[in-house]
Amino acid sequence: MMPPLMPTYARADLAFDHGEGAWLVTADGRRFLDFGAGIATNSLGHAHPHLVAAIAEQAARVMHVSNLYRVEGAERLAQRLVDATFADSVFFCNSGAEANEGMVKMVRRAMAARGQPERTRMICFSGAFHGRTLAMLSATGNPKYLDGFGPAVDGFDHVPFGNLNSLRDAITPQTAGILVEPIQGEGGVRVGSPEFLRGLRAACDEWGLLLAFDEVQCGMGRTGTLFAYQQSGIGPDVLSSAKGIAGGFPMGAILAREEVARHLTPGSHGTTFGGNPLACAAANAVLDVLLAPGFLGTVAERGRQLEAGLRRLVRDMPGVFSGVRGVGLMLGLQCAVPNTEVQAACLASSLLTVAAGENVLRVVPPLVVGAGDIEEGLNRLRLAAQRLAPVGVLEGAAR
Ligand SMILES: *Cc1c(COP(=O)(O)O)cnc(C)c1O
Repeated sequence: MMPPLMPTYARADLAFDHGEGAWLVTADGRRFLDFGAGIATNSLGHAHPHLVAAIAEQAARVMHVSNLYRVEGAERLAQRLVDATFADSVFFCNSGAEANEGMVKMVRRAMAARGQPERTRMICFSGAFHGRTLAMLSATGNPKYLDGFGPAVDGFDHVPFGNLNSLRDAITPQTAGILVEPIQGEGGVRVGSPEFLRGLRAACDEWGLLLAFDEVQCGMGRTGTLFAYQQSGIGPDVLSSAKGIAGGFPMGAILAREEVARHLTPGSHGTTFGGNPLACAAANAVLDVLLAPGFLGTVAERGRQLEAGLRRLVRDMPGVFSGVRGVGLMLGLQCAVPNTEVQAACLASSLLTVAAGENVLRVVPPLVVGAGDIEEGLNRLRLAAQRLAPVGVLEGAAR
C-alpha cells in the first residue's frame, strides 16, 4: 500500500524527539551523536539558544510580508555577507537548487547584456551535485538521478573534476561560464585543489567566462573559513549558498559581483518566500555565531582534531577504511567495505553519518561540536569498524 508520505527516501526507522548541540534524542530517550548534521545543514547543532531565541522572537513579530516591501533583516544579512566576501549584492531564496538555478540565470543574463546571448552553456564536472530541479539535474549530470525524467535540459557540458586540460578543451563560443563545487559533497568529499580553482579563474578571465561556485554544502563556515573559496586565493563571480546558512531553517542565497548582479533588474527574477523576515532572522543569528571572534578558527581546530583521529582509524582498521578526505569539518572516510554497511554499523553504535559517492562516509558534525564530542564520535566510529572488521585485520592492528 502506498504510504501517505511519498517514499522518495529509504529512511532509517528512527525518529527524533529533540536535540541539544551535537546530540539527537528519541522519544524513548536513546541518544545519538549527530555527525551528519542533517546533511551538513545544522551548522549550530540542535536547539542552539541564540538561534532558537532569534526565530521565536521574529515569529512572534512578523514571519512573512513578501518581497513587495522592505525587509530589514534581509538588508542587514546581505550587507554582512557583502562585507565578508567577494560579493557586491545578494539574492535570497529557499534552497540550494533554487540558488543554483538563479545563479545560472544570472550568468546567462549577464552574457546577453554583454551582447553575447549565444553564450548560454555552463561547464560542469563529473561527480557534481547541484540539486533536483529539471535544470540542476542536467547540471548534476548523474544518470542515476536523470532516469525516467525525460530529456535532460540542454546547456550543461561535463568534464572530469580537477582536470584543467579537459576544461580548456570544452570551452566553445557558446560557453557562458563554469559551475563547480570547490569541494564536492555528494560526489564523495572531493576537494578541488587551490591550483585547480585558480586554473578555473584563469580560464574564465582568459575566455571572458563567468565563474560560479556552488558552496551550498562547503560554505558557511564548514571548512573553517566562511566560504571554502577563501582558502584558494581567488574568488568567483557568483556563488550559491544554502544548507547551513540558516542553521536548519530553509534558505538559499546567491552572492554576486556587481557586473553579474546588476542585470537582475526588477521583475527579472523572483521568489515568494525567499529572504522573508523569519529566514533572515535565523541566518543573521547563524552569522552572529560564525563571525564571532575566534569561532571559525575553532572550527578549523576541531577539523584538525577530527581529521587526525580519522587518520588513526584508517591506520588501525585498514580492512574497513582506506583514506581520509576533506577540509575543516567537511570530512569523508573512504571505505574498504560498502559505505552503507559502515553507516549502518555507526547507527548501531548511536552515531549518525551520511553516505556519499565514491564509497565515502561523510563525517560532518555541527560546527559547534566540542572536543569531547569529537573524541566520543571517534570512539563510536572505532566501535562500528570493529563490528565490521575481518578478524585477521583486527589481530594485525596496533590497538
Ligand atoms: C544539497 C546540495 C544542493 C541542493 O540543495 P537543496 O537545498 O537540496 O536544493 C546543491 N548543491 C550542493 C553542493 C549541495 O550539497
